[in-house]
Amino acid sequence: MLVKVTEYIAQADKTLVSFEILPPQKGQSIKELYKMLDPLMEFSPPFINVTYHRSEYIFKRNADATFIKVPVRKRPGTVGICSAIRYRYKVDTVPHLICGGFTKDATEDALIDLHYLGINNVLALRGDPMKSENEFIPTTGGHSYASELVQQIAYMNKGVFLDENLRSTFKTDFCIGVAGYPEKHFEAPNMKTDLRNLKAKIDAGAHYIMTQMFYDNQKFFAFVQQCREEGITVPIIPGLKPITSIRQLSSIPRFFKIDIPADLADAMEKCKDDAEAVVEVGKEWCIAQSKELVAAGVPCVHFYTMGRVDTFVDIARAVF
Ligand code: FAD
Repeated sequence: MLVKVTEYIAQADKTLVSFEILPPQKGQSIKELYKMLDPLMEFSPPFINVTYHRSEYIFKRNADATFIKVPVRKRPGTVGICSAIRYRYKVDTVPHLICGGFTKDATEDALIDLHYLGINNVLALRGDPMKSENEFIPTTGGHSYASELVQQIAYMNKGVFLDENLRSTFKTDFCIGVAGYPEKHFEAPNMKTDLRNLKAKIDAGAHYIMTQMFYDNQKFFAFVQQCREEGITVPIIPGLKPITSIRQLSSIPRFFKIDIPADLADAMEKCKDDAEAVVEVGKEWCIAQSKELVAAGVPCVHFYTMGRVDTFVDIARAVF
């Protein structure tokens, strides 16, 4: 039985399709999630990624008009959601695991939970700086970079745990994915340095790369070539997300530090008073990107749903 992302890729005779979903906001029901996922099952995704969202601080007003800073997690439940998906759809899941907010011991415990549940995939990430912070501040006793998290998981795969009582008792068997940035991670001083840091994640034991979204396939193809020149040989999965509103022409570059090609931005501006036409332009662009990536033989096209699936059904139907 196949379980790992790399096993699915190795066995596939054509490009796979996969999806990333966000855990529902606290207060919503799991039924909302199923309603979103049900239509995607038409495409038989071999795996579904589930993002991880750490706590953010908010200020709460006290009765005496002073304020108190409290941590709030709006979207908990990554592991539970992964289990629910496997149980309901018999589809493998890839929980995202981040460094921010985790000590190394808490990371070990989270991975042991996944191991108990038979979830043998994980996307190992550093996490972004908290909204209240200008830069990423590592948690005391936690990891500073995703490469360190990868190394911890790789050790666990060899039966080496922080809890010495566990040594030589069992081994985990995680397939480890890491993030890659065709347009460079925003903190890296240059592409070369970013690629070296990416190679460090692979050398630490990562098995494949999943990319940040991009809207110009040439940037992805150039990135793959640069990775190969750097000696990175693992599969590289492109990640895509259609633009579905005029607002995203500025919010996507701001949040993700990526470019929107002029042709796409111009086409959207031309129909900016017609919300449906904007969605159509975004969909058509994403379909064209996907078709070109499939024709180039990428192992899988990964779609970031960001909680909206309707457009992805049309895109996936047009491509797969
Ligand atoms: P790293 O690989 O640690 O890199 C971060 C920066 O540090 C880079 O600039 C890198 O060049 C640099 N660097 C790495 N090693 C070193 C070193 N030894 N010395 C100096 N510099 C170094 N965030 C979430 O919070 N939850 C999610 O679920 C989530 N899912 C994501 C999925 C994908 C596919 C992608 C692409 C991103 C996702 N993110 C998520 C966002 C991610 O956490 C951020 O982009 C974060 O800023 C970097 O994470 P990373 O794992 O790439 O970090």
